[in-house]
Amino acid sequence: MDIAGRSGWIDVSVPLHTGMVHWPGDPPVQIERTSDMARGDRATISKISMGAHTGTHMDAPVHFLRGERGIDAMPLDATNGPARVIRIRDAALIKPEELELHGMQPGERILFKTSNSERCWKTDRFVEDFVSISKDAAELLAERRIRTVGVDYLSVGGLQNGVEIHQSLLRAGIWIIEGLNLSSAAPGNYELVCLPLRVEGGDGAPARAMLRPL
Ligand SMILES: [Zn+2]
Repeated sequence: MDIAGRSGWIDVSVPLHTGMVHWPGDPPVQIERTSDMARGDRATISKISMGAHTGTHMDAPVHFLRGERGIDAMPLDATNGPARVIRIRDAALIKPEELELHGMQPGERILFKTSNSERCWKTDRFVEDFVSISKDAAELLAERRIRTVGVDYLSVGGLQNGVEIHQSLLRAGIWIIEGLNLSSAAPGNYELVCLPLRVEGGDGAPARAMLRPL
């Protein structure tokens, strides 16, 4: 039995480990024991060093909008409540044409399950051609007043247009979860719990995220 046990909760966050994948140029992940009972210390204590945008994490508006809110200002209901996992079939981009098939409603929390979930987390190397949100799709999400968007790799936008995509979503007040692994979550309706660490004024923060079918 996995750690979800019989509760029905599915863990959709990725495990953190030293040397794991991160956005190119971001600080590496290093988790080291500064005290260790195996070496005769009285307790085992780790030091965790990592960028705030590694693994499963959230982005705050201040990540790309100067003077905007930090992650500690996120309303808790942005990421806790009903959510929908939408299966994206396009192997390159999340496009408006595909989104239109799903009848997105204002205020929805939507998690995009792309081929990234199965493909990208198997390696500690950065996968450059991950599926990301297109410019037009970001505009559609903003127009539809989606509350929260989750993606299954390290950025909502691609390597070339990441800044622009983040800005469109954040300007529209959409909260962003990145780095989910949705391979164990079938498309459908869920209760979402996702809690980023309460970092004061933080541009982002690691998060634990889980889903329970509704
Ligand atoms: Zn981001």
